[in-house]
Amino acid sequence: MVIGGGQAGLAAAYYLRRAGIDYVVLDAQSSPGGAWPHGWDSLRLFSIARHSSLPGWPMPSFSDGYPTAQHVVDYLTAYEKRYDVPMHRSVQVTSVGRARDGLLVHTDAGTWSARHVISATGTWWRPFRPLMGLPGRQLHTVDYRNPLEFSGQKVVVVGGGNSGAQVAADLVPHAQLTWMTRRPPRYLPDEIDGKALFDIASRGVGELGDIVAVPPVREARDNGLLVATPMDTEALAEADVVIWCTGFRAALGHLAPLQLRDARGHVPTEGTTAVGEPRLHLLGYGSWTGPASATLIGVGPTAKATVARIASSLA
Ligand code: FAD
Repeated sequence: MVIGGGQAGLAAAYYLRRAGIDYVVLDAQSSPGGAWPHGWDSLRLFSIARHSSLPGWPMPSFSDGYPTAQHVVDYLTAYEKRYDVPMHRSVQVTSVGRARDGLLVHTDAGTWSARHVISATGTWWRPFRPLMGLPGRQLHTVDYRNPLEFSGQKVVVVGGGNSGAQVAADLVPHAQLTWMTRRPPRYLPDEIDGKALFDIASRGVGELGDIVAVPPVREARDNGLLVATPMDTEALAEADVVIWCTGFRAALGHLAPLQLRDARGHVPTEGTTAVGEPRLHLLGYGSWTGPASATLIGVGPTAKATVARIASSLA
């Protein structure tokens, strides 16, 4: 059983099918694509299609530079069809518990039992928002769609990662923008070759300290319009809107009954297998569940190793 039908769940499905293991995927959403349909309108990948593929079938090329989020959704939709993934949609997993010979997966559509569970629920669903008690409107990356609604407003974007830089660049022509970062932004070299991209991927998007200078970010920066300032609580308090691009945590609430989490909120793993529950595997959450496992190109090898471990335990 796989919980989550985004890219990580699909990579797991690919290897489960290849290993001849009987499985299903449960996904909370009514349509494919995981988190990708929920990003802002101008969101694009920071890598070209060739460097953004799941196992087995490369992402079709995209004619106009870096692929759009819609291109990723189309790819994941076609991937799911191509490999005939047994997907149950609009099923929310509420909790996972133990049974004698497997795990019980409780959902809003009934209970499934499985000998192994791969949890691949991503991070988008658990945005991290520092609590500041500020007077203005408080949004997170997940709430941001389009710069037009902020025309003329005093907007502070907080966060020196890729999301912060991209959302700030998007707002430059429309809002009175302040971009706040805890330390000066560090851009990756403008011309990134395939090797550098792999190195980025190997460090995992969640921990990525550097900013990929995708074209809109590069343009705003080079025109002197994307200038970061240090954190400033007074300016935060005066803003009409603060957009917190401050990252995400793993969406692991459904695993609470298993009582496996450590102080950081992670489930300790060996490879992707939970140390305290060998029938549970965690896939795609960040470098702690495999190098680059939170990227399109990086989740494949970790999914392969996860399924190999399940196959040998079932044998
Ligand atoms: P998700 O896409 O979040 O899929 C998880 C699925 O599980 C969802 O469909 C969700 O509905 C479902 N689910 C969650 N909880 C439950 C539950 N309890 N019951 C049932 N279903 C559940 N990576 C790249 O490789 N290149 C990029 O350019 C790139 N850009 C990014 C830009 C942004 C702004 C962000 C946030 C991330 C980016 N990433 C990028 C990282 C990564 O590829 C994405 O975050 C990706 O969506 C992670 O896929 P996933 O399958 O792990 O999780």
